[in-house]
Amino acid sequence: MPAKPHIAVIGAGSFGGWTALYLQRGRARVTLVDAWGPGNSRASSGGETRVIRGAYGPAQPYTALAARAMDLWKEHQSQWSQKFFFPIGVLWMVEGPGDFERGSLPLLKDAAIPFEELSASEMSRRWPQINFEKINWGIYEPGSGYLLARASARAVVQQFVAEGGEYRQSTIAPPHDDKNALDDGPLTQLSLSDGSTLVADRYLFACGPWLGKLFPQTVGPHFTSTKQDVFFFGTPGNDARYNEGNIPVWADHGDRFMYGIPGNEDRGFKVADDTRGPEFDPTSGDRIITADRLAEARRYLAYRFPGMKGAPLVEARVCQYEDTTDHNFIVDHHPANQNVWIVGGGSGHGFKHGPALGEMAAKLVLTDSQAITEYRLARFAAKKHSL
Ligand SMILES: Cc1cc2nc3c(=O)[nH]c(=O)nc-3n(C[C@H](O)[C@H](O)[C@H](O)COP(=O)(O)OP(=O)(O)OC[C@H]3O[C@@H](n4cnc5c(N)ncnc54)[C@H](O)[C@@H]3O)c2cc1C
Repeated sequence: MPAKPHIAVIGAGSFGGWTALYLQRGRARVTLVDAWGPGNSRASSGGETRVIRGAYGPAQPYTALAARAMDLWKEHQSQWSQKFFFPIGVLWMVEGPGDFERGSLPLLKDAAIPFEELSASEMSRRWPQINFEKINWGIYEPGSGYLLARASARAVVQQFVAEGGEYRQSTIAPPHDDKNALDDGPLTQLSLSDGSTLVADRYLFACGPWLGKLFPQTVGPHFTSTKQDVFFFGTPGNDARYNEGNIPVWADHGDRFMYGIPGNEDRGFKVADDTRGPEFDPTSGDRIITADRLAEARRYLAYRFPGMKGAPLVEARVCQYEDTTDHNFIVDHHPANQNVWIVGGGSGHGFKHGPALGEMAAKLVLTDSQAITEYRLARFAAKKHSL
């Protein structure tokens, strides 16, 4: 690579935006391209808020990555004088055997993410507005919380430009058919929808849920974009118990994995079901919520948060997860093209990691190094556990 390589980053979501910023800081010349803009309505990084938490189960790289991300979110928001990280606490409610939560504890400790183990009675004492029926115990992460999604995605790109990066709003044509690429050698250019071409030394594709179609052979078989419905219910005007400040971000790990964010930028009490929905096309899919899912969310809300029974739906959103088969990220070279990198597979939990992931990916690209096994494409050849 030249001393100051030109790197094209395609996709300005959480993964691409932060990676472009760190590449720019790593003394590369960077062109960042996005079809519809950072945090746009089709992107997985769109919408108001995302959870940032440390508990991730046993034997995984994400608790340490989240700890680094928390530091970087705080560092950047203080530099930019804009608040994106709201550490209102995250409460894990454990219904079943709790292997995930039990396995999270040593990693939280190692990563120095503050946490408390709480009994059901202690949780009832602290948050009497929650019905803890069937909950055996919990983890409270007092320094975790939520992030602003779209707002921070835009701020990252603004900062990238302020630090000398070039941003272009345009759609990249699929670079090639992966099969041909095996014969074609290094990628030499990309065609943009404005009729121009983009020539760079390296190309990094951080195209979120679009990655499967852009790389149908390398990524496609190990990747699904699924429809997720997110609901926002109106809190009573005369009862602040469910407002931000009185209740933390919560995660209810029972038969289903339900989670939510109070306040949510004043868009309502957010309730979401992590269960994967049907396959969804992020470009052409209509973003219409499913009535059954809304009914389930209402039932759940009335049960777990009784004071919210009958609350009106004030907003709803359809987003999509960009799921790999094992829910681990992808940070790797294209197997046939060493000057092509693929970064994505956030699998419904990627947003929080943006700055730490970007820092890591930029370093790998600039030093031509390999990521840990969990993030490499070769893992799909021999598969083991799912995260
Ligand atoms: C409902 C929902 C809730 C979630 N909750 C959480 C949470 O609580 N905590 C958490 O950490 N994560 C969460 N996630 C996951 C997280 O939001 C994603 O993992 C993350 O935002 C993925 O970022 P990305 O940059 O990979 O993708 P994206 O944000 O989708 O960015 C990809 C970009 O590529 C651009 N693009 C695509 N194709 C082209 C092309 N051909 N040419 C040019 N540009 C192109 C798109 O316009 C887009 O902006 C959630 C996701 C959803 C959908």
